[in-house]
Amino acid sequence: MAKRDYYEVLGVSRDASQEEIKKAYRKLARQYHPDVNKSEGAAEKFKEITEAYDVLSNPEKRQAYDRFGHAATDGQFNGFGGFGAGGFGDFGGLGDIFDMFFGGGGRQRRGPERGADLRVDVELTFEEAAFGLEKDIKIPRTEECGTCGGSGAAPGTAKKNCDVCGGTGQVQFAQSTPFGRIVQSRTCDRCRGAGVIIEKPCPTCRGAGQVRRTRTIKVKIPAGVDTGSRLRLAGEGEAGLRGGPRGDLFVFIHVLPHPVFKREGNNVIIEVPVNFAQAALGDEITVPTLDGKAKLRVPEGTQSGTVLRMRNKGIPDVRGYGRGDQHVYIKVVTPTRLTEKQKELLREFARIEGQKPQSTEKGFFEKMRDVFMG
Ligand SMILES: [Zn+2]
Ligand SMILES: [Zn+2]
Repeated sequence: MAKRDYYEVLGVSRDASQEEIKKAYRKLARQYHPDVNKSEGAAEKFKEITEAYDVLSNPEKRQAYDRFGHAATDGQFNGFGGFGAGGFGDFGGLGDIFDMFFGGGGRQRRGPERGADLRVDVELTFEEAAFGLEKDIKIPRTEECGTCGGSGAAPGTAKKNCDVCGGTGQVQFAQSTPFGRIVQSRTCDRCRGAGVIIEKPCPTCRGAGQVRRTRTIKVKIPAGVDTGSRLRLAGEGEAGLRGGPRGDLFVFIHVLPHPVFKREGNNVIIEVPVNFAQAALGDEITVPTLDGKAKLRVPEGTQSGTVLRMRNKGIPDVRGYGRGDQHVYIKVVTPTRLTEKQKELLREFARIEGQKPQSTEKGFFEKMRDVFMG
């Protein structure tokens, strides 16, 4: 099979710059990489463009190719070591290619790593959630070791470069694949990717550079939080690795139920019982609020289930947009244990009520009759 021209394979002109060649290759490689493209011939195509790139991206090989054509790659030309054998003998170029695909990561020693985020759950009373507070929270977390300053090496000693990986933290190994031999790297076992070895570990942290401690942290909980609210304390999480920043601490709020108050958004809901006479005649009653006892006017003729609104007696908005209201549900309680005197008065009341023309109530009973009689 006649080999296609490498420039043609990559779709670039013969005087294309290295940048243009690289760009063309990346575009094609993404399109035909066997991990992405499962269609028939894709692997063959990928091999072809990779071979073309391998040659054209290397100025020395490109020059030879320009002069000798495919003869330079067919084993008839041995001007550059290994390149001739099947066109794929030397994987120097493929290192770059794999870096492209795998992000180029893992080649250098491991750098700083951010610490993990922590979660802590906090229970608040209804009032604490409503008005906020500063709370001491104990959290166990990893911290930089004070003895060695996080290096893990005993005081007075130093780390040395890993002799297995030469300080890179990575070792390379060859693997046979359908495309030929591929050199890949993995984390060095000796130094676990750090690139350095601690000869004399710190006695406090045993070389980890970190210790576990329970810290007490002051957390300012704003007014108006509710169950499900989450506070983020930047930099209060686990210590970072190798000089990386600390993670964050997330405080999850749980509000305990209150015996009297309920919450709906920023409004406080409360049910207040009044007796029949208070509801009928109207009264000024005392109701609990988050701010203490407060007077509330129950108007004459209040029905059970009526909601009376007390403005700005609710919960402060957590973003600072004012306060909610308190909604007072009036529950008219029917008396159960009446004295003979009370019963007598109610019978008297019923007699008078019976003679009075009923307006709205009568309408209701008429409707009921309509429903049942058709
Ligand atoms: Zn230490
Ligand atoms: Zn190593």
